[in-house]
Amino acid sequence: MPELPEVETIARQLAPAVVGRRVVGVSVLDPRLREGAGPTPGVRGRAVAGVRRAGKRVLIELGPRTRGGDPLWLAVHLRMTGRLLWREASGDRRPERARARLALDGGSVWFTDTRRLGTIEWIRRSEDVEPEGIDPMTAAFTAARLRALVEGSREPLKTWLLRQDRLAGLGNIYASEILHRARLSPLRTGTSLEPSDVRRLHRATRRVLERAIRASGTTFSDYRDSRGEGGSYQNRLAVYDRAGRTCRRCRGTIERIVQGQRSTYWCPGCQA
Ligand SMILES: [Zn+2]
Repeated sequence: MPELPEVETIARQLAPAVVGRRVVGVSVLDPRLREGAGPTPGVRGRAVAGVRRAGKRVLIELGPRTRGGDPLWLAVHLRMTGRLLWREASGDRRPERARARLALDGGSVWFTDTRRLGTIEWIRRSEDVEPEGIDPMTAAFTAARLRALVEGSREPLKTWLLRQDRLAGLGNIYASEILHRARLSPLRTGTSLEPSDVRRLHRATRRVLERAIRASGTTFSDYRDSRGEGGSYQNRLAVYDRAGRTCRRCRGTIERIVQGQRSTYWCPGCQA
């Protein structure tokens, strides 16, 4: 499932291809998607004003239809297998598993999705754009803020990191990677953390995400960026999907446990 770095990569790549182009039309091809998205509002003639990430969603901002009007956002949640592909008009064949199309002058953004778990949603109010949790890549994410959020929690740290109402954008891969980098056991709880632990967790969160973004994300199974290519961070994973293998930091053995029905990978040798 694409997490923050993969969604960030898709948004950054898509932006230069589509910003400034005018909307020619929107087609929702999958009826299941139409239920969630609701009726398509008036979009023809609007110009794409920006593409960015909000939590794990890609936001395509469409400028106002008339001077002084309101912008409109198309929020795309890719879930397991969703992709956003940019195709120039010249090679504009419908890709496989296409569920929706945003036709622009000069090309189209296609939403493809093998497992059909992704969603699209039209957002009309700017206050509905931002996710509930703090985005760890913004200036608002400080060690002090993290401490205030986590210190009273009795949840295991790994499960806590997945809570989108606390930190927005983390998923199973990066939660394990962050805890390994911070040398913290996934079984620890917020209540047990010393200020120095929180500072390490804060630094590790930033560092792991920055490096993953630089590597264009992690490719596991289905993730592809907007050009249909994968990322390379899977070559740098320290613990995720490495059960039984050697920890590159302490030479201990990486273990897999299950927390909240999801796999956690960690090294008991150097995460305490
Ligand atoms: Zn280790």
